Amino acid sequence: MREAQKYAGQLQKELNWEISNENYEKSRSSLLNNYMLLTTEVAEVAEEFRKAFNRTHALLEEGIDEHVAFQIAKDSIKEDLGKELADCFAYMFKIANFFELDMEVSFYSKMDEVRNRKNKDIRYTKK
Ligand SMILES: [Mg+2]
Repeated sequence: MREAQKYAGQLQKELNWEISNENYEKSRSSLLNNYMLLTTEVAEVAEEFRKAFNRTHALLEEGIDEHVAFQIAKDSIKEDLGKELADCFAYMFKIANFFELDMEVSFYSKMDEVRNRKNKDIRYTKK
């Protein structure tokens, strides 16, 4: 992850896509713009799901087995879903780079928190 974040930072610098650090107003505007772009990319992930669900339903209408239909639909969006998730990473890394955050540290630290917290939403598992 550290390598990917570093690569994203270099690419953003090369393309002059970094979040402005010129002054407060420019940083604020640039952060909000990039946050908006991140949420747009998150919506594009949902759009891929919508395509997969629509495709699954169309295949079910043709009488194809549900498991097979969903697998075909998942395969059909896989490449584009990867691109949209990559777009999300790019904006997340951009924001992290602005704040000089090491996302590898943040990620594992947060996952430790998740692992160790008292789960308030304990799932009922039938045994
Ligand atoms: Mg996109």
